[in-house]
Amino acid sequence: MNALSDLQATLDASRKSWVESANEPACDFPIQNLPFGIFSDGLNSTRRAGVAIGDCIVDLAALESAGLLTVPSSSAGDSVFVRDALNDFIALGRDVWRSVRIQLSKLLSRDNATLRDDAELKRRALIRQADATLHLPVQIPGYTDFYSSKEHATNVGSMFRDPKNALLPNWSEIPIGYNGRASSVVVSGTPVRRPNGQLKLPDQERPVFGACRKLDIELETGFIVGRGNALGEPIPCAEAEQNIFGMVLLNDWSARDIQQWEYVPLGPFNAKTFATTISPWIVTLDALEPFRVAQPAQEPQPLDYLRHSGEHAFDISLEVLLKPQGANEATTIARTNFRHMYWTMAQQLAHHTVSGCNTRVGDLMGSGTISGPTDDSFGSLLELTWNGKKPLPLKEGGTRAFIEDGDELTLAGWCQGDGYRVGFGTCVGEILPARQ
Ligand code: CA
Repeated sequence: MNALSDLQATLDASRKSWVESANEPACDFPIQNLPFGIFSDGLNSTRRAGVAIGDCIVDLAALESAGLLTVPSSSAGDSVFVRDALNDFIALGRDVWRSVRIQLSKLLSRDNATLRDDAELKRRALIRQADATLHLPVQIPGYTDFYSSKEHATNVGSMFRDPKNALLPNWSEIPIGYNGRASSVVVSGTPVRRPNGQLKLPDQERPVFGACRKLDIELETGFIVGRGNALGEPIPCAEAEQNIFGMVLLNDWSARDIQQWEYVPLGPFNAKTFATTISPWIVTLDALEPFRVAQPAQEPQPLDYLRHSGEHAFDISLEVLLKPQGANEATTIARTNFRHMYWTMAQQLAHHTVSGCNTRVGDLMGSGTISGPTDDSFGSLLELTWNGKKPLPLKEGGTRAFIEDGDELTLAGWCQGDGYRVGFGTCVGEILPARQ
């Protein structure tokens, strides 16, 4: 078989794995997914690259040293998988990501005995996720956040400006974005401390200093840059997807009261910089290919440099769950889909670089809050409760206008296939009380 048909075979919906947990219909990590991450475990504290399969992780360095995984263009004796981030692997390029994906899909296929019947190697190379710690998958040189959901921008504009002119005139011409803070991007499971900052109360002339009272989530996805561009050399829109390694779930924690006071005229600052949480597994664009769908129609037609033909959205179901401290069950507070996003990832990347701005391997680009068309599909508490005016009922009693200390917020996302799903796992964070 040639390389392309090998790649298509990795997406075959009927392919099953000898890792039986991967064949459960609701499992996020079937053999069709094979997302990349960085992990360590109790027996081996070295951080290294792995791929999720069912309830396990495949140790890529172990497979490579056993001679079962070949990495083209990797230098001998220095595994690109024994690293505390995936950047060096990603920098090897798309052909290498694809080659590794194809080799893993074959090795993990039910009918392939090579690893399946090698008990000793399996013991070393297959680690249960329950026994592993997942780390930030990439070293992130830069983080940019966009604002590309028309529904979200319309809701926020209606609330804080004018419902009749909710969208500013530039919104439908520009994938609006700002440069975020890479240093505070954390992996799922990292607790998040409620920020302190300047709050402007309506009945007082000057601001007060104190703990955020309107702490919120933003349900987003992020993409990881897989191939950078040189300073002064923009990425054409039609080619931009070639520069993307894969996607994660992203929670852009937001302090609404701090934001409302500080954002004029340069945009959010302390309201966003205290933490951004991403999910640990990077789902490659190759794995998402069967779920490609058309983006919403764009009117007016974008300027030339933002045009691409074909379909550039993905059908990714998304959920937000809130679990108060001590509760037994979480409440699902929102359900939506990535396909609603007005601006595509390709358009975001083309716009980001059109000025000549360079990007680097591992750069993280947030989609912007993903809100759908209905009241229960909004991607932030700001919208779901309409700035706290309509608190949400919780399953075990009580309500929420904004996040309280001890609340655990979980984002989940998956693409639904026929009898299987390509999932992202979860993106979790618990809120700790503010520093006194
Ligand atoms: Ca955001």
